[in-house]
Amino acid sequence: MSKEYAGGVKALDDVSLTIDEGQLLAIVGTSGSGKSTLLNLMGTLDLPTSGTITIGGHEVTRLSDRELSALRGRSLGFVFQHFHLADGLTAWENVATGLLYASVPHRKRKPLALAALGRVGLSARAHHLPHQLSGGERQRVAIARAVANRPSLVLADEPTGALDTAGGRAVLDLLVGLNEDGTTIAVITHDRDIARQLPRRIEMRDGRIVSDTTDGPTDGTEGR
Ligand code: ADP
Ligand code: MG
Repeated sequence: MSKEYAGGVKALDDVSLTIDEGQLLAIVGTSGSGKSTLLNLMGTLDLPTSGTITIGGHEVTRLSDRELSALRGRSLGFVFQHFHLADGLTAWENVATGLLYASVPHRKRKPLALAALGRVGLSARAHHLPHQLSGGERQRVAIARAVANRPSLVLADEPTGALDTAGGRAVLDLLVGLNEDGTTIAVITHDRDIARQLPRRIEMRDGRIVSDTTDGPTDGTEGR
């Protein structure tokens, strides 16, 4: 696919990428290389100028807005650099809000939200407000929100970018652990140290993929 913005900026130039179920990959590149544009297209938040995107057998560019929202709510989870939590809602209420968009019935939202907070190690913080949490804890709440409905793909845009070293480390370890439990995760980062710790690395430059490297056995099976 390609993506050209108004004004003629070619943010993605003929990019082709397949992500298999169960993968954990880094999309790495300097600022302006097209990482966020790629994530927005993979997350159906924007459409390509040309080309196609298929998620779980659905060709995204053929879906109506309503079908796109449903696909997003059911199949995708998002994590952003600055957490995007609602200030006035507790940790579990923030997680439950994500389930609203996944069309989860009201009575199931709280138990699922509490379970997701357990998965990120924050059961003891479920009733705290965002300002009562550290940055790293806030990001873990955002990750709980992203994974609460067991999405097919979690997209994280610079998830450690606003955190100190320890907070970033905890978030990265958490993402690795969630992947070991079967969650497919794409992490965007400009930080090569983070990218190095993930089993597959895609490097972008000027809107193109310039390398795609996977660790592990060379017999074609998944490996770390
Ligand atoms: P990255 O996330 O790697 O920093 P982006 O995907 O945000 O890169 O941006 C890629 C290129 O597209 C940059 O040149 C940027 O200025 C441009 N760009 C991004 N978003 C828009 C937009 N909404 N309108 C116009 N140009 C944009
Ligand atoms: Mg970006």
